[in-house]
Amino acid sequence: MDYEGRTLPMNVEPLRKILELECKKGYVDSAVIGGLDRFLRNWAGQAVESITASQLLNLFNKLHLVNSDYASLTKEQRQEWINSLLGFLARLEHGEEKRGEAKLIPLNRRSTPRVRANRTVPNQSIDSPVTIIRGISSSMAARFNKLGVTTVRDLLYFFPRRHLDYSQRKPISQLTEGREETIVANVWQAQEIRLGGRRSTEAIVGDETGNVRVVWFNNPYLAKNLTTNARLVISGRVSLFKGRHVFESPEWERVEDRELIHVGRLVPLYSLTQGLSPRQVRKVMKEIVDQWAGQLADFLPSELRERRKLLELPQAISQAHFPEDEALKDRARVRLAFNELFLLQLGVLSKKRHWQEDQPASPISTKAPMLEVFLQSLPFELTPAQDRVLKELLANLEEAQPMSRLLQGEVGSGKTVVALAALLMAAANGYQGAFMAPTEILAEQHFSTIHQLLSGAAYLEEKKDYLHSYSGLLSHPLTVAMLIGDVTQKRKREIQERVLDGDIDIVIGTHALIQKEVEFHRLGFAVVDEQHRFGVEQRSALRQKGYNPHVLAMTATPIPRTLALTVYGDLDLSVIDQLPPGRQVIKTKWLRPGQRDSAYAFIKRQVAEGHQAFIICPLVEESEAIQARAAIAEYERLSQEVFSELRLGLLHGRMSASDKDKVMRHFRSGETNVLVTTPVVEVGIDVPNATVMLVDSADRFGLSQLHQFRGRVGRGQEQSYCMLLAQNPSEVARARLDIIEQTQDGFQLAEEDLKLRGPGEFFGTRQSGLPDLRMAKLSDVGLLELARSEAIRLFEKDKRLEQPEHHPLAKELARVWPDMGEWS
Ligand code: ADP
Ligand code: MG
Repeated sequence: MDYEGRTLPMNVEPLRKILELECKKGYVDSAVIGGLDRFLRNWAGQAVESITASQLLNLFNKLHLVNSDYASLTKEQRQEWINSLLGFLARLEHGEEKRGEAKLIPLNRRSTPRVRANRTVPNQSIDSPVTIIRGISSSMAARFNKLGVTTVRDLLYFFPRRHLDYSQRKPISQLTEGREETIVANVWQAQEIRLGGRRSTEAIVGDETGNVRVVWFNNPYLAKNLTTNARLVISGRVSLFKGRHVFESPEWERVEDRELIHVGRLVPLYSLTQGLSPRQVRKVMKEIVDQWAGQLADFLPSELRERRKLLELPQAISQAHFPEDEALKDRARVRLAFNELFLLQLGVLSKKRHWQEDQPASPISTKAPMLEVFLQSLPFELTPAQDRVLKELLANLEEAQPMSRLLQGEVGSGKTVVALAALLMAAANGYQGAFMAPTEILAEQHFSTIHQLLSGAAYLEEKKDYLHSYSGLLSHPLTVAMLIGDVTQKRKREIQERVLDGDIDIVIGTHALIQKEVEFHRLGFAVVDEQHRFGVEQRSALRQKGYNPHVLAMTATPIPRTLALTVYGDLDLSVIDQLPPGRQVIKTKWLRPGQRDSAYAFIKRQVAEGHQAFIICPLVEESEAIQARAAIAEYERLSQEVFSELRLGLLHGRMSASDKDKVMRHFRSGETNVLVTTPVVEVGIDVPNATVMLVDSADRFGLSQLHQFRGRVGRGQEQSYCMLLAQNPSEVARARLDIIEQTQDGFQLAEEDLKLRGPGEFFGTRQSGLPDLRMAKLSDVGLLELARSEAIRLFEKDKRLEQPEHHPLAKELARVWPDMGEWS
């Protein structure tokens, strides 16, 4: 027939020799060391590569050599199979046209999912659209697209939401009402009946132990399909009707000479969309997994896979969909979760290496005696946590690789003084530092904080609102300037020029201003306050301008370690996990709905005593515009009906930056008593006189966010309070409210939050930057740490994945991190 040319593209001789030897030895599987199955797998793997004619390939695939199961056959079966195989080889060699498929005895009779190394028509690949699959029409493909599935590969990674355990067969006499059960039974009779006015099917089926009634609502056609004596596997919940057991619309499948898909096993349940039925999807998935999983190249280095006893990729994919048993299902999940975490860690770690290698930073000597003088001059001692973190920073500064560090610490834990110490170190070495804040008001706050912190160690020589110059601490005057939008053009120019000259040592401003408008003489160190992601963005922005400073990002949002390693795995992490002594505990109370008025009364009393209060408006999900409108309405209600004798301020996300700043300033200076705000309230703002935080609809916020709100108060000497109003809290929300009432520890709250709500919600949807994790759970600390340590180990061995055994991995990385551009 038409296979190209008559010469055989593969050498069948070694195989034939072995098969003949096996016959001679009496079919005891001793012809080859390691067993025939293993040999066949290897041989088939090579052979399949060399087959180009599709007909031959079909024939070849029918042999299922890649997953032969010779070892488990009886002697007679072995004999029969080897004979048929030898016959096949003979035909192949002689270029015989007859395909003789019928004579081949496929070996994959056992009921476990099989993974075939199947080669398909040339221009079809695993990245082809799903429509290449027989049985997927373009309309079905469109429905899959809705689920985010476009290619065959997507389908393989389209994992079931969960599995139903239909694996335990029960005799009919032992069925239990209310349980999910599986029976194997014969159909005695099946007929169409009416049930509640709907045309339905009723069947009586039986096994050796008894009979049971089965009904399928709304499905009259089945009656004709279920001929008497048909043998079925039925899985579903057992109900009771008029005192007798009945299956209502169970899954069913005929017992045939093939693997069960819908019943009698662990049955996958997929996410569905309109027009895709569970049965349909399952059937398609089974087909695809069987045909294509074998084509996924296992990109994990085999040394690693074996050492960690991970399943091979094709097997893992197949077991994730159609598991043989619970244990394999778990192992499949572990392997696939490891994939996700490992690729992620490789990605973030190489990003970090990128930063570090590309362009060396300036090593900064930390020997200057100035540091001791500065620390001695402070009105307090550093906490052990501050001390430890400062050492971590100084160690980074000394290196030629730029620092990329994320410093986490609760509000008030004293991050600023630590950052300042490092900035001074840079200045002592003749480098400039930048201190960036997300808002102007926070920049101003830093400017005045730094002034206070320096006042014990240095003399103020030059003093303007936006520029201080100190003597006595460094060998040259230490000049600190603040660059905010408010300053006049003239001042701005003065600051810009003096920064460019190198005359200003530390410039404080918003991220935007420093990135865009300032050229440095010698930028050595950048501190980015309050917003973890910024560290990364600022670095890129600064690098585009030709600087490669050490970068320290700081955040008051405690991030659970697993999440930090995942999302910020490219940064080193420091944590100040301890507050300075003597900090007050903020009294936190969850108020019942009826206590709203007493909460307002409490605010009035506090204001009467000269204090101030925040009120966080109820959370409205829809949009910022609607949120803003709701906030305006609430502000008006409170101004007119509740606090008519007080001065209120309003803050929401639709206001311009300068309007927001104005409102904050009024609040900080005490011109307004109560600040009504949407949840966008500025992080990190210091209003020591504010003693009350009232959070409306507190049940709708995460623990971390509630904790952030609470951190707005308790910044001064006075006892402070946090009141949480919850209209109608769910069970979970109650649990959250209980926790926050009882604990002040942000990290503990963050961990709880992650447990209760999951990572997506933890970060809020948009800014999450979370990778697509389907199998991995971030609660899986052990696996995450393993993935990280394996990633580090691999890079130590082969930094750029250049060794041949790492090529598949490099390819996979290029696929999942396309913008890295380093792997292809
Ligand atoms: P953060 O930026 O972490 O929220 P700050 O750096 O603004 O916290 O510090 C909060 C306040 O605590 C500041 O007034 C600071 O001077 C003070 N502070 C910092 N460290 C200590 C310490 N070790 N002991 C006492 N007070 C401290
Ligand atoms: Mg701060």
